[in-house]
Amino acid sequence: MVRRLEAQGITDTRVLEVMRRIPRHLFIANSLWDHAYADHPVPIDRGQTISQPYIVALMTQALQLEKSDRVLEIGTGSGYQTAILAELARHVYTIERFAELSEKAQRLLAGYTNIRFRVGDGTLGWPEEAPFEKIIVTAAAPEVPAALVEQLAESGRLVIPVGGRQLQTLVALTKEGKRLRREELCACSFLPLIGEEGWPDEETWLQHLL
Ligand code: SAH
Repeated sequence: MVRRLEAQGITDTRVLEVMRRIPRHLFIANSLWDHAYADHPVPIDRGQTISQPYIVALMTQALQLEKSDRVLEIGTGSGYQTAILAELARHVYTIERFAELSEKAQRLLAGYTNIRFRVGDGTLGWPEEAPFEKIIVTAAAPEVPAALVEQLAESGRLVIPVGGRQLQTLVALTKEGKRLRREELCACSFLPLIGEEGWPDEETWLQHLL
């Protein structure tokens, strides 16, 4: 998997080293282990997916993590990305909307002492612990949630997929005073970020379509 990531243009050796070390299959159901190291997303519970390795690597590299960073992650999911962040930063604060997914990730990551978990709407961030040097959102937002921009430290980086409910652009934003510098990384397709500053939930969305 890591050799493929290098061929795909991932150059940050710290990211590659951590991804070589963390057993990705442990975050996936036994019946899907054949897919654990393949370059595509894999289903987890609650209709969600663990992101494909290339996207995980690209987002982590784009954060430009420092060992001293406090990182906010929105969308704990399986906890795989959370583990990578915990290896490369000082502290990780991770929010998941489904309690069931958060609890499973908490059990898997019990060995880490630098992760805090919260169940709730990540589009509102974690104001009590702000500012964060880095913020990563692993679900697709219609627009960059204002609360997250507010909770980003000066010179901090925010990596987030922004766009439609099906297709988005992965962007890296850097806070420069009142401005946000924007770099576009690639086209991508994430599951929707559902919350107050995200998309409406499935039920409300269906009613809107009918
Ligand atoms: N990084 C995870 C990605 C999981 S998919 C992994 O690789 O396993 C995206 C996750 O975002 C899902 O678990 C989904 O439930 C969660 N999510 C969606 N909207 C959210 C919100 N507003 N707050 C917190 N989590 C959210």
